[in-house]
Amino acid sequence: MDERFTGSFTQQEPIPEAGIEAALAVLRHGRLHRYNVTPGELSETALLEQEFAALTGARHALAVASGGYALGCALRAAGVAAGDRVLTNAFTLAPVPGAIAALGAEPVYVGVTPALTIDLDDLAAKAGSARVLLLSHMRGHICDMDRLMRICDAAGIAVIEDCAHTMGAAWKGVPSGRHGIIGCYSTQTYKHVNSGEGGFLVTDDPEIAARAVILSGSYMLYERHLAAPAPEVFERVKYVTPNVSGRMDNLRAAILRPQLRALPDQVARWNARYAVVEDALRDVPGLALVPREPGAAPVGSSFQFLLLDWAAERVREVLARCAARGVELKWFGSEEPVGFTSRYDSWRYAPAPPMPATDRVLAAILDMRLPLTFSPEDCAQIGRILRAEVSAVWQQG
Ligand SMILES: *Cc1c(COP(=O)(O)O)cnc(C)c1O
Repeated sequence: MDERFTGSFTQQEPIPEAGIEAALAVLRHGRLHRYNVTPGELSETALLEQEFAALTGARHALAVASGGYALGCALRAAGVAAGDRVLTNAFTLAPVPGAIAALGAEPVYVGVTPALTIDLDDLAAKAGSARVLLLSHMRGHICDMDRLMRICDAAGIAVIEDCAHTMGAAWKGVPSGRHGIIGCYSTQTYKHVNSGEGGFLVTDDPEIAARAVILSGSYMLYERHLAAPAPEVFERVKYVTPNVSGRMDNLRAAILRPQLRALPDQVARWNARYAVVEDALRDVPGLALVPREPGAAPVGSSFQFLLLDWAAERVREVLARCAARGVELKWFGSEEPVGFTSRYDSWRYAPAPPMPATDRVLAAILDMRLPLTFSPEDCAQIGRILRAEVSAVWQQG
């Protein structure tokens, strides 16, 4: 009998006890709204922002209702308006082009390489066409950030980073999200900290920070922030910045604070699991591992590999055989988006010309989560199953 994996790819760890205790305290006092404080009280949300700013080394941090909200808020705070063109990844998750389109702006897609990073040659070729790049570190793969920043600086392009998959990661020692003018993060259940829904943005720019705070719905209570700029900066923006409510609340902030403290340990645990799967899949004929840039210190919270130039029906057979043994893979080559959308040609509200080199990579990507409820032994078993089934289908070819 072939071994079968029985774990759940969507099961995260429980909330730490300290987070449950802090959440109960918020429920017991009832002041869930971030600005609902007693005299002298610092809200869980304000403290969370202060701690997130310290973690990323940013001057300012704002906690918001979702990662997608953080992206839209960042674009607005950076001055993107209807009709503007915004460069972004052809391979990312739907909230990224969605944030651009929701502003009435137009996504201009940049291709993906077999390293699953943004194609910097394509970016250089398109650099003249926009003033902003919304860069997604999709699935945690970090491109050569030095070259990316050289291209963008030379073209006068402001970079906003989508770090939904790189919270806790770094490029040459600099935390992910700290290369551009704004970094955005998600605290949704399937990311690196879990509050159900939620997000952050960080920046060193006081005006952008003040605009973001007003946008998020601060009702002129911005003095209750601990990681926002001085009141005089707000004087310059407060009457000309609309309210687009999307605040974080104290219940979710209470759950998140202990998780932020645990993040470095969690990153090490994720990377240990990633390494076990990667080692199991070395030298499998027909299977390409995804190389990492030497400067990147990623977080291995999900795993991808490529079956480059395989016929679709053989990829489907790999998927079916793995599923039969309990290993659920996502395939980005499927014609219809199932359960998620991550390809530029699925976003018909923002159409683009065909990108053949990108299509070749997308058609090859297989993807799975590695939740921390999986032990290293579970990861070894997953690796054995993938190795056996990919090899079996390859040999039939
Ligand atoms: C999850 C995710 C986001 C933000 O998602 P929310 O669900 O709105 O928090 C943004 N970009 C990528 C690549 C994501 O995976």
